[in-house]
Amino acid sequence: MARKKVVAGNWKMNLTPSKAESFIGEIKDKINTDAVEVVLCVPYVNLATAQNALKGTKIHVGAQNMHYADEGAYTGEISGKMLAEMKVPYVIIGHSERREYFKESDTEVNIKSLKALKNNLIPIICIGETSKQRNSGRTFDVVRKQLSVALDDMTADDVKKVIIAYEPIWAIGTGVTATKEQAEEVCAAIRKQIEEKLGKSVADSTRILYGGSVTPDNAKELFNMPNIDGGLVGGASLKTSFEQVVRFE
Ligand code: PEP
Repeated sequence: MARKKVVAGNWKMNLTPSKAESFIGEIKDKINTDAVEVVLCVPYVNLATAQNALKGTKIHVGAQNMHYADEGAYTGEISGKMLAEMKVPYVIIGHSERREYFKESDTEVNIKSLKALKNNLIPIICIGETSKQRNSGRTFDVVRKQLSVALDDMTADDVKKVIIAYEPIWAIGTGVTATKEQAEEVCAAIRKQIEEKLGKSVADSTRILYGGSVTPDNAKELFNMPNIDGGLVGGASLKTSFEQVVRFE
């Protein structure tokens, strides 16, 4: 079965609840489609607002992080169990900004992703190399290791459900987009690695996204590559022209 494309917006720490409500009001009819799975990953305080504003549409809401524990003395954190009860179906795990500023390790990404799955959430697991790693020819090794740890202890069914986002760090928020060939060769290697671990049918089912300075101008060529099943989109998801990214065909 063909993989359904996914376009997930990552709002990062942007838009207060009132601004979120009015922005969703502006774009929701334009990004409401069956052709693509559309997800808006919003700040925690906007989850309920976004859910209300999106009622009656096919657009999904996602969170940008979660803790691996169900509950406990982790001031400032929220759990997968909480997201599940709120019926938030997606959660970004291991975004490079979390890895860099909050020191999240590959192991933590794995534990969080397993916990997300246990709560019936779909983790959008981010992996990708720095410019230094790319320039020293280590892209494939870095991504391979990140993926290998992220998928540790996952079953075939788990890996069919997860979404992998290949996000080269040098392309995130920089305006420097990977070429379609650069993005495709890493996404193809990711799929190959899944095949080696769990077989072709799992690899053929797993959605692998590209993220890093996606815009209405480059979405079409990137998302139509054979191993790229859509995108994780930061800055461009905060503009009304996000519609053009969603309708990239
Ligand atoms: C992101 O935040 O995951 C991202 C890819 O950001 P941008 O599209 O702004 O580069």
